Amino acid sequence: MSVTVRTNGEALLARRRRAVANGVGAYNIATAVSASGAVIIDADGAELIDFAGGIGVVNAGHCPPSVVAAIVDQAQRFLHTSFNVATYEPYVALCEKLIDLLPHGPRTKAMLVSTGAEAVENAVKIARQSTGRQAVLCYTDAYHGRTMMAMSLTSKTGYKLGCGPFAPEVYRVPYPNCYRNGNGIAPERFVADQLRLLQECGSNQVVPDQLAAVIIELVQGEGGFNVAPPAYVSGLRRFCDEHGILLICDEIQSGFARTGSWATWQHYDVTPDLSTYAKSMGSGMPIAAVVGRAEVMDAAKPSTIGGTYIGNPVSCAAALATIELMQSLDLNARALVVGDRIRERFLQLQEQVPAIGDVRGLGAMIAMELVHDGDPHRPDTELCARLLAACHEEGLVLINAGVFKNIIRVLCPLVITDDQLDRGLDIIDRQMHRLTRKAA
Ligand code: PMP
Repeated sequence: MSVTVRTNGEALLARRRRAVANGVGAYNIATAVSASGAVIIDADGAELIDFAGGIGVVNAGHCPPSVVAAIVDQAQRFLHTSFNVATYEPYVALCEKLIDLLPHGPRTKAMLVSTGAEAVENAVKIARQSTGRQAVLCYTDAYHGRTMMAMSLTSKTGYKLGCGPFAPEVYRVPYPNCYRNGNGIAPERFVADQLRLLQECGSNQVVPDQLAAVIIELVQGEGGFNVAPPAYVSGLRRFCDEHGILLICDEIQSGFARTGSWATWQHYDVTPDLSTYAKSMGSGMPIAAVVGRAEVMDAAKPSTIGGTYIGNPVSCAAALATIELMQSLDLNARALVVGDRIRERFLQLQEQVPAIGDVRGLGAMIAMELVHDGDPHRPDTELCARLLAACHEEGLVLINAGVFKNIIRVLCPLVITDDQLDRGLDIIDRQMHRLTRKAA
C-alpha cells in the first residue's frame, strides 16, 4: 500500500492542537481546502470521497453552484438586519416553502433559527407554552444537540461529561431498538413490549398529564441509524393523543432528502405536532427551523422566541436555493437509489465478515453495526476506529455513530456519482477484509 504524504495536513493539525481547545471533538483526521459535489480536496491536494457529508449537511453536495450564487446575491444586498428588527422576504419565503413541503394538519406555521440545537430548544419552549406543562420525554441513544436543554435530552454520557447539572423535568424511555434489545423475539412482540414500557413510564417516571412533549428521532442519527418500527410510532402517537402530549419529531439529521422524503415522519402513518430541521436544509449555511401546527406554534408568546441571528438572510437564500435544487434533481428519488446500493454492498459484506452484526437504515441513511461474535451486546469499538483510519488512508472520509462508537454510518452527498459511490464502498470493503483477516 502506498504511504500518503500529509505534510500540510499534519502541520495544520499541529496548529489546531496548539490553538483550538481540546473539547472541540475531532471525529476524523481529514483536512479541507475546497470541496465540490461529493469530493473534498485536502490540505495536501489529495482527493477525498466524502461519506460524512459534514455530518449529514450536504445532501445536495458541496458548493452547488446555484446555492453559491444565491449566497453571493443575497450577500451583496444585505448580510443582516435581525428578523426581530426588520422583516425581510427570504425568511418569509423559506417559512412558506417549509409549510408547503411539511404540512402538520390543516394549518402549519414555521420559525427559523441558526442551529439544530436551537431548533430543539425552541420546539420545547413552544410545547411548554402550548400545553402549560413542563416535562419532556426522550429516548435512550438520542441526540438533540449540545445546548443545555438539548444536551439534557441527549443520551450519550460521553457528550455530557462534567457538564451538569442538566435541565430538570427530562425523562427517558428505551428507544425501540430491536437489534440491540430484541433478544431474538418476534418484531410484533418486541413493539408491544416497548409500548408497555412507554405506558409504564406514566407510573414509574412521570405522570403523563405532566408531559408537554415526547421528542423522538424516527431514525436516530448519532445513535446509529436505529429505525423506529411503524407500529411503535403509531402507538406513540396514540399515547400522546390520549394524554394531550405534543409529539416532536427531530428531523435534523434525517430530513431534507436523506431518507427519500423531506421528513422521515412522511414515511409513517403519523403527523407530529412539531418537527425540527437544520443541516442539509442550508447546504452548510447555519439555518434551522421549527415547523408545526399553527395553533401550537402560535401559543408561544411574542419575544419568547428570538435571537440576533435567527433566520439570517444569507442562510435563508441558501436554503431556498437548496430546496429548489433538491426538487429539480429529485433528490428524494436519488436517495432511494443511493441507499439501495449502500445496503446491497453492506449486506454482501456482512455475509463475508462476521463482525458486521447488523445492516440497517432508511433511504440513504444506512449503517452497519460492528460487534464481537455476532453478539449485539458486545460492541467492537476498536474495529470501527481502525476501519475509519484505514479508509482515510485510502481517501475516504467516514464517521462512526452509536453510544459505543461501533457503528459505521454513511451520510454521503446524494449527488454522489455512481462511480464515486462504488469507489467509496470498495474502500470500505477492502479495508474491512484486510483488518478482519489480520485480526483472525
Ligand atoms: N438533532 C439531531 C437529530 C442531530 O443529529 C443534531 C446534530 N448532529 C442536532 C439535533 C443538533 O444540531 P446542531 O449541531 O446544528 O446544533
